[in-house]
Amino acid sequence: MCGVFAIYDHPEAANLAYLGLHALQHRGQESAGIVSNDDGMLHARVGMGRVAEIFGRDTLRQLPGRIAIGHVRYTTAGGSLPRNVQPLTAQNRTGSVAVAHNGNLVNADEIRERLEAEGAIFSTMSDTEVLLHLMARSGARGLLDQLVAALRAVRGAYSLVITAADKLVAVRDPNGFRPLVLGRMRGTGAYVVASETCAFDLIDAERVRDIAPGEIWVRDGKGERSLSFAPPRRTTCVFEHVYFARPDSQIDGVSVYESRIEMGRTLAREAPADADLVLPVPDSGVVAALGYAREAGLPFEMGLIRNHYVGRTFIEPEDSIRHFGVKLKLNPVPKILEGKRVVVVDDSIVRGTTSRKIVRLLRQAGAREVHVRISSPPVHGPCYYGIDTPTRAELVASSQSVDEIRATIEADSLGYLSPEGLRRSVGCQTRRGFCDACFTGDYPVPVPRTAHKRQLRLIEV
Ligand code: AMP
Repeated sequence: MCGVFAIYDHPEAANLAYLGLHALQHRGQESAGIVSNDDGMLHARVGMGRVAEIFGRDTLRQLPGRIAIGHVRYTTAGGSLPRNVQPLTAQNRTGSVAVAHNGNLVNADEIRERLEAEGAIFSTMSDTEVLLHLMARSGARGLLDQLVAALRAVRGAYSLVITAADKLVAVRDPNGFRPLVLGRMRGTGAYVVASETCAFDLIDAERVRDIAPGEIWVRDGKGERSLSFAPPRRTTCVFEHVYFARPDSQIDGVSVYESRIEMGRTLAREAPADADLVLPVPDSGVVAALGYAREAGLPFEMGLIRNHYVGRTFIEPEDSIRHFGVKLKLNPVPKILEGKRVVVVDDSIVRGTTSRKIVRLLRQAGAREVHVRISSPPVHGPCYYGIDTPTRAELVASSQSVDEIRATIEADSLGYLSPEGLRRSVGCQTRRGFCDACFTGDYPVPVPRTAHKRQLRLIEV
């Protein structure tokens, strides 16, 4: 769970990267960084915290050059330490190189152990550093040859932006797990690359196309070109549509907003409820709840209000504080709820603690019946490709049936969207095209045993 941004050939490259990262802040709040490239000389400024906390006018002034890459990070591999902050920079025989990575490499531990046994010294815990080592050790002279050699050795999820010499490079893994989109600035024509199109809207850039699975896109003094380093097997993460991406983004040309409306509509058909009104769990459930209300012909109300100023920074992932955290974030509106039978729509149930707290809040505020509807299927398995889900044991759906979960969360009824309904909602008729491993257990890239120890805790409440 990270966001990447890159810009090529703009006099204010670092400032625009800063803005782009602001728009991608939802993809990671733990750390952020920008590396600018001034005629091959790289300048890096990285830090812990949010974009606005790390970068000010003075910091941005220290980032000269017409090329910049940036990263916002939410730890999924390597731990939350200042030295793991990205973009990562390194020196090798071709000069300085910087890379920003979204996704998880599933065989990074294996490769790392092998390289360490051969004497390699790693300075971070991040799986991305494995890539830099593989590039340096490839024996190839040019950046692109080094990159292709490294990419042939790694497996898993990677949307990358890289800068070195006069180049900006963007890469998407053959499965296209994580999004990556190419755009151009209106007016100057500068090239931009970002995890999501919402970053383009802010800086007045337009989407050109998505970087294709298995594509290396390059822009340098010689112009723009693309090469394919592996045959594509598109399995883009469906959870981007369910929860992670912003609804004002498009992924591979599909509007996240429209997918979520459709998820809500399909959910209303698959799991109707005898109720008086529909309300979302903000923000993650808002668009699907709107779709549900439209399809069910029920009023849509904001019965829960979210406090947007509660950061995840001071909510630690201990269970006792998580319970408290829900109240910090969400407050019910009794006037809307008193005596009502309500449908409350959220995007997912992971551990089940949030849902139970919400059901209790709604009852305390006067709701007569609480029907929980979830705009995705039960989460049965962890993600190894970059979404932060907890271990299988902590996933409530891995050990409980839907009715048991209903009892656990104390709801009058509980309904999930089916895997087929989800696929239909994101616009694909078959499973090919999306990774839905967390819901179906069908992992498109095999996960070595060593990857399991990388499972981290779900931090948000
Ligand atoms: P839980 O209490 O673990 O069931 O949390 C479910 C809530 O977490 C839902 O409101 C989701 O919107 C949200 N959520 C789902 N997946 C994630 C994730 N990977 N990271 C943070 N929050 C998530």
